Order: sequence, then structure tokens, then C-alpha cells
Amino acid sequence: MLDSLLEDELLELKARDLYRRLRALERTGPVTARLEGREILLFCGNDYLGLSHHPRVIQAAQEAAARCGAGSGAARLISGTAPLHAELETRLAASKKKARALVFSSGYLGNLGVLAALAGKKDLMVMDKLCHASLIDGARLSGAALRVFPHKNYGRCEAVLKAGSSAARRILVTDSLFSMDGDLADLNELVRLKEKYECLLVVDDAHGTGVLGLRGGGAAEDLGLEDRIDVITGTLSKALGCLGGFAAASETVIDYFVNRSRPFIFATSLPPMLCAAALEAMRVIETCPEIRRALWGNVRKIHDGLRRLGFDPGPLCSPIFPIMIGEEKEAVRISEALLKEGILMPAVRAPAVPKGKARLRLTASACHHSEDLDRLFAVLKKALQDSSRHPPWRRGRDSNPGTPCGVT
Ligand code: PLP
Repeated sequence: MLDSLLEDELLELKARDLYRRLRALERTGPVTARLEGREILLFCGNDYLGLSHHPRVIQAAQEAAARCGAGSGAARLISGTAPLHAELETRLAASKKKARALVFSSGYLGNLGVLAALAGKKDLMVMDKLCHASLIDGARLSGAALRVFPHKNYGRCEAVLKAGSSAARRILVTDSLFSMDGDLADLNELVRLKEKYECLLVVDDAHGTGVLGLRGGGAAEDLGLEDRIDVITGTLSKALGCLGGFAAASETVIDYFVNRSRPFIFATSLPPMLCAAALEAMRVIETCPEIRRALWGNVRKIHDGLRRLGFDPGPLCSPIFPIMIGEEKEAVRISEALLKEGILMPAVRAPAVPKGKARLRLTASACHHSEDLDRLFAVLKKALQDSSRHPPWRRGRDSNPGTPCGVT
């Protein structure tokens, strides 16, 4: 009975080109993998600095695993805070210029835990339409009223804040760097609104951490806004190449999360070996600035290459380049054509992006070599030429992001 119900739904997904299947893939390096016996190039990950494979990061994880074991054994309120948890939290707090930080078992759980703890039924959550699913889910879990404003339309955001003056607490939420569109929130404007309307501001710096800012401290460091944002969340799983999430805020806010954030309280804590790996990744970022320079060099080359293909990549501001295709079927077809030539850049479709806004999400890594980029552009040119009856791909970052994804 259950199977037949679910099968119907799966068939419907197939009919709408929204069905997904898992692919067996073995990573062989920061930007390479083995797929069905072939070596392929990755242009799709979030390991922007290639630190998942950095020898110092691997060694730190191995040594900590040998000392502390593979898992942490229980949640922190049960089995305690390991010295490596404490050290990582101190370092994250310093990097985000906050009094204290708290580590979660993933970035997803961190966002869920922060928003669900901060708001309740009498509160109003105001969110950019393109915020990550973890923020949307956290807002829903909180029970607060959720109002979404069109992507980066801060005029509409202000109108929503004004209209919500009767809420007990208003919480403004944004990604710093939007994961599927690769553009930046206007944090100066959001801070201005937060101060004018005396609300809280939560910024998810998942893709900014390690990438943006003078020392890789993230989007708030870039603009010197750390003091004016209440909570900065992020993840250890992208530019830091590991796994885990965090929130950085005042002493009291973090103390509150320890007592009230259910994904913190009821989930097994991050294994110390991953804390050690993330700590070493942060040290690598600090001591090897050439890695971040290599990333931004590749970002520039990809930006130029897309322009030469007749594509408008928008402002040069991040390692994420959406190649807008539109139709789900066509995005899948192009992605498969790229894979035949040894380039993995999956089609991103609903619900990760709005329906009808399917795209290829091209990401740069510090570890791509010039020859990798040459190969990318040769293969991409051919795949897109074959798609020339579908001109929308020539558009860059989406000026009209369509219907909300994940928000009803
Ligand atoms: N926030 C954003 C903006 C993300 O893109 C992601 C992951 O895709 C997350 C949070 C969740 O982080 P994690 O993958 O570490 O759970």
C-alpha cells in the first residue's frame, strides 16, 4: 500500500523531469573523482579551497581520531565538551568577532537550531525568498509567522517589517552569499533596517566563510559589520572542507542556544576529529593566503570565460556561477552531455531552485588548474551550442527569480 502510493509520486516526479537518483562516485582529489571507471573533473562542489584534501587537514583529523576516537559518543550536555570543541568554538568566535560560538553537527542543524530557538508563535520571521532550505525549515519549526520578500528587494522587506510592528519579536534572516545564484545580500542595507526597526538580524554565512573578507572571516568581515549582526551562522562543510555547523553571537545568546536549541541538545555532538580538521583548515587559511588567491584567480578566469561564451555572469563576487537554462529537461540534457565529456556539473532543479528556473551550478575551486578550465570551456561551448535553440542560458544571475522555492 505504502509502496504503491510512493511509486505514484515518484512516477509523477519522473514525468516532470524532477526525479533524482544517487550516483556512485569516488572522490580522488579536491576536484577529481572516479565515475564508472573514468576519471572526471568536478565543477560542482563547495570545497572552494580544496581543504578537504589538504595534507595538514587530513593529518589533524587522523591524529585526533587516534587520540579521541571516530565518534563523540553523545550530545554535549550528556558526554561533555571535548577540548577540541572548546578550541574550535574559541577560534570561530574570534574569526567572526563575537564573544562566543557554538558548534552544531551540521550547518543544516545549526540554522534549524538557531531560528527555532530564537522565535515562537508571537514572533515574525522576515526572510529573503532565496534563503537556504535550512533557514526556511528553521523558521517553520519555530512556529513564528513567516513572511518572505522578493530576492534582495529591501523596499519590500522594509514594508513587511513595518507592517509586522505588532509582533513580539521581529527577526530578519538572510544568506550572505546565495548558494544557487552566487550573488551577495546587501548586508549594509539589512543592518540599516535591523537598526531602524529594532529587530534581530541573523546572517547565514555558509558560503562566505573562508571565501569572503580580507582573511577569509566571511561576508561580515568584508564589510566590518560583525558587531551589528546579532547571530552569524555558518558551516564547516564548504570552504573549510570538513563537516559541522556553527553559530556565533553574544555570550548570552549562545548560553540560550545551549539551553533551548533542540538540534544542539538532542543530537550527538561533532566528533572531535572533525573539530581538529576544521581548526587546521582555519590555520591553513590564515597561513597560506596563496590558496585563497588561487581561488579568486580562478573565479576571475571563469568569469572571463563565461563572458567569452556570450554569457552574462553578473558582478564578479563569488565562486558560484549559475548558468540559467530554465527547462528542467534541457538542464539535465546539458549536464549529461558535459558528463559524457568528463565534467561533472549537475543540473539544479526544483525544489532547490524555483520550478522553471533550472540551471547548471558551476563552482570554482582553488585547485582547478588552467588546463581544467580550458577543458571546461571547450566542453561547455559545445554543449551550449547544441542547446542554441534554448537561448535563456545566455542570461546570468537571475534578475527574476520566479516563484518561491520551498516556501508555500
Ligand atoms: N546554509 C546554506 C546557505 C547552505 O548552502 C547549506 C548547505 O548546502 C547549509 C546552510 C547547510 O550546511 P551543511 O551542508 O553543513 O549542513
